[in-house]
This record gives sequence, C-alpha cells and structure tokens, in this order.
Amino acid sequence: MTALPLVFEAPRRGMPPRHLADLDRDERRAVVAELGEPAFRADQLGRHYFARLSTDPAAMTDLPAARRDRLVAALLPELATPVRHLCCDSGTTRKTLWRAADGTFTESVLMRYPDRATVCVSSQAGCGMACPFCATGQAGLTRNLSTAEIVDQVRAAAAAMRDGELTGGPGRLSNVVFMGMGEPLANYQRVVAAVRRITQPAPDGLGLSQRSVTVSTVGLVPAIRRLAAEGLQVTLAVSLHTPDDELRDTLVPVNRRWKVAEVLDASRHYADTTGRRVSIEYALIRDVNDQPWRADLLGRLLHERLGALVHVNLIPLNPTPGSEWDASPRPAQEEFVGRVQAAGVACTVRDTRGREIAAACGQLAAAPLDGLRERKATGSSPSLQC
Ligand code: SAH
Repeated sequence: MTALPLVFEAPRRGMPPRHLADLDRDERRAVVAELGEPAFRADQLGRHYFARLSTDPAAMTDLPAARRDRLVAALLPELATPVRHLCCDSGTTRKTLWRAADGTFTESVLMRYPDRATVCVSSQAGCGMACPFCATGQAGLTRNLSTAEIVDQVRAAAAAMRDGELTGGPGRLSNVVFMGMGEPLANYQRVVAAVRRITQPAPDGLGLSQRSVTVSTVGLVPAIRRLAAEGLQVTLAVSLHTPDDELRDTLVPVNRRWKVAEVLDASRHYADTTGRRVSIEYALIRDVNDQPWRADLLGRLLHERLGALVHVNLIPLNPTPGSEWDASPRPAQEEFVGRVQAAGVACTVRDTRGREIAAACGQLAAAPLDGLRERKATGSSPSLQC
C-alpha cells in the first residue's frame, strides 16, 4: 500500500493553539509579560502581523534573535496552510483550500473588482444549519473556527492583494464578507472578536473599515439583536430566500424556530440601532421560490417592515452536486426584480463569481479529494499557483 500524502491523514479535531489575533491588546501584553518580556514586544508582534501581514519570524529583526522563537511560538503559531488555490474569472477570483493543524479543511475566496477587492471568509468548518440548496449545509458542522483562524483568512487575502497575486497587479483588500462556510452568528463571540480585530487599526488589527464588513446570517433572531448592541457599523445580510413561512421552513430549516416576521423585526431593529441598511439575500430557485406572487409578497413585506432600510440581493442559485434544483431562467429573474422594485424596495441581481471552481455562493465544501483525483489524472504535484 502506498502512503497517503500528508494532507489526507486522519484528522484530530480540536481548536487551534492560542494566537495573537485571538487576543485584544491587554491580553497580548499579559502573555508577553508572562514570558518575562516588556509590554512593547506585544505591539511589535502586532505590527508584524497586522501591519506587515507577516508571520515569518526571520523577518522580525526588531525582536532579539534569542527571544524571537519563544515569542513567535507563544503568539504566532501556524494556524493553517494553503493546500491549493483555484482561479477563474481571468484570474480575478481565487479560492483557497486551507488545512488547519488538526486536519480540518476550510475555504476562502478572494474576488477582485474594478473598484474593490473582497474576501469571503468561513466562520465554521462545515455548517449546522442544513439548508438543502447549500453545499456546505449538506456536510454538517465539523467545528467552530477560532477568532484567529477567521482573522488569518483576511490577513492572507490582504497580503495576496498587496503582493499582486491576483490578475491586475498589486492592490488593496477593501471588503470582507462572512459568506463562506458556516453560520457566523452560531459562532457569535469569536466572529464578533474577529470583526473587531479586522477593523481596529494596527498594531491591534488590520484596519479595514467596519462599513466594508458584511455578516450574513440565516436569521438567528437573538443573535441579530445582540449584534445590534455591539456598537459596530457592519452590514447585516439576512438569508431570507422566501417571504412565506411554509416554504422557508424547508429552505432555511431554522425558520421553524424563528419565523419570517420575527427575522424581519430583528432586521428592522438592527437597521434602527445602527443606521445601516440591511441586505436581504434571496437565491432564486427555478419553480421553487421565483414565482411572481412571491416577488409581490416579498416587496410588500419589506416595504412595510423596513422601507428604505433594506436592499434585496437576488442570487441566481448555484446548483450543487446531487441537487435537482436549478437557477431561475433570466426572464423569471427579471420579472422578480421588477416586481420587488415596483413595491418600492431596492433590489439588484448579484454578479456571481467563481462558479467554475465551486467558489460561488453556497458551493464551498472543502473537498480535498477533488484535488487528489486531479493530481492523479495529470500526474503533477500539487500546485499553489493558479
Ligand atoms: N450561513 C450564512 C452565511 C453563509 S452562505 C447565511 O446563510 O447567510 C452565504 C449566502 O449564500 C447565503 O445567503 C446562502 O443562503 C447563500 N447560498 C447558499 N447556497 C447557495 C447556492 N447554492 N446558490 C446561491 N446562494 C447560496
């Protein structure tokens, strides 16, 4: 029997070791003090990680060589390694498969547009919400990601943009969307801490603007209300997918616990408290949720409950393997948009990126075996280059 490559060893699942990005400034200083080092070393490490986007101890020449390894081991353990990158859209979309220390796989997607660059990050390995049209939902939940595992996806994307790894040359990461694997609000504290770390200025964080961060949820009502009280300016996206409880009970099973009306009330509360317009996500599925009457009902409900404080993002369904569901045809999409707009509600169709590399909305399933098959077929070694 031939030995399997390292990446396919049986995983031991567990949360990763403590990392700088899990901690706020005081906590980082306390760890450094425990090591018998002056507090400013915490800020030095923070600047390497958050400002220079570096995890390479050799580059940290302002730390005395004798202490560097201890400091790095205590605060910058390696969290995940990129197993492979897949690119499409002429090299402006790149999906990365990550393998964590315990063997868990996750994925993130970096997308470059003319005016911005967005990374779509995972908040959990797998997902427990079981939405039947979503590839991640089919696999179930493996575990929560740590705060640092979330932040590190953003750090890596920011470094990739800076280093010109996507077509178009060097650029700047501007946006983060929590629309990868997982339900962010089911990993609440770690996700909120990650948002703070992503948006605080260096040496405490990556310094992105809160308004360019979007947290997407199936509609966990108490968590939406809690998020509203955090004093953050992030955009809330709510995956509604249909305005009626009967169908939503099957499309988004958590609807059996929190109904459409409660989800919209919590969304209204979020908009009122933060002053931010809420996004409503709606994957258009042929003959399932794309009927004109549903567009009318959606428009009426949203106009009544949220008025100008809402924007509907229609996403043509990305079919997932084994599902008989398909995207709505273009005329149905257009009629749907027109009807929602006629009700006085802002509504656009989202440009879908990454379809060919299974990196589009709801397609993330962290399938390293696809890579194995591909490598066997070509006989080439795994490549991180697109
Ligand atoms: N759990 C969160 C975030 C992850 S998914 C949530 O549900 O909001 C991000 C978005 O992609 C959600 O709106 C989700 O419903 C949508 N999505 C999932 N599968 C999809 C698919 N196959 N086609 C189009 N959108 C999909």
